[in-house]
Amino acid sequence: MSMGLIDDELQEVRKLCENVVTGSKLISCVQTMVRVEIRRTTFKHIIVCIQFPCDYPHSPLLLELKSKTLSDKLLGGLTNICEQEAKKILGKPQVLTILKFIRNFIDENPLSCCYNEIATIKRDLSDSDELKLKQKTSSLNLKVSQGNYFFRAKVCVPEDYPENSVRLEDVETNFPPLFERFFLGHSKEISRQCIEPPLKARAKNQPPFKKSPSLQPVVSFLIVAVKQIPQESCQLCHKQCLPEDPQLAETNENADGHVERVYCSHLFHLQCLITYMKTPPFHGGKKCPKCGQRIYHDKWRVSEKIAEDRWAHKQARERELKEVAEFLE
Ligand SMILES: [Zn+2]
Ligand SMILES: [Zn+2]
Repeated sequence: MSMGLIDDELQEVRKLCENVVTGSKLISCVQTMVRVEIRRTTFKHIIVCIQFPCDYPHSPLLLELKSKTLSDKLLGGLTNICEQEAKKILGKPQVLTILKFIRNFIDENPLSCCYNEIATIKRDLSDSDELKLKQKTSSLNLKVSQGNYFFRAKVCVPEDYPENSVRLEDVETNFPPLFERFFLGHSKEISRQCIEPPLKARAKNQPPFKKSPSLQPVVSFLIVAVKQIPQESCQLCHKQCLPEDPQLAETNENADGHVERVYCSHLFHLQCLITYMKTPPFHGGKKCPKCGQRIYHDKWRVSEKIAEDRWAHKQARERELKEVAEFLE
């Protein structure tokens, strides 16, 4: 090993590292180990440990990458690419070049901080679905299909993720408007819950609220919902709710064949539901035949008995209606 050469390089690293590698902090810089912390955001944070091989600089640097937030698989892949990069400059000083390369990689691949989430999402997708990573715009193009129905959106991952949550853009779908509102409203609610503490105060012994990544929760919800809804039946007549041809789906929300989704999440044809709500017995309030939860909806007139019942359950009802309103937003 050429000690003098390494000493010269270490001196150069001490002098230049924090200036030329934006966001870096030199922790140690000696013959046995160069240790540098590169922090772009809370999630884009990496520790680079560098050792010099015996025949340096004629062999590539020995690298170990550590991160509490980036996945091991990503770090393994990045280590390999760095080695390839170092091989391109054998015989020359490699430390600063490799550090700059790592910093650039993090900046140019903003989705690297969601690598684990993306791997989980991919397991839920089927052959007819699409997920394309767009590193340049820090977004994913998602298309989920079920039969002839599809939902497409650009899922944007903000710079300071997961401090801020993902958001959906350029949404395109052939589901009836009620379901589009449900997909968007519920996605927004999931995102919100990842970054905002619940309104209700937490019990004293519970750990404080911590923001969490929202990409996988949102996309997994969309995949499940898009695949499930076209296969669901009306809980009263047991016919499939949505027609096989999306063009034939009812878009007039007052038409008999319009599909309603009540608070418990089960689906009903509007006409089936109206008939059911108007048919005795009313005792105890009308319940969903599938899950037994009370059916709440203001859309149609109900009998006096139900109105009375609702009055008795006023508080519960107000809460539920508020939640219905939120997901319809
Ligand atoms: Zn029906
Ligand atoms: Zn139900």
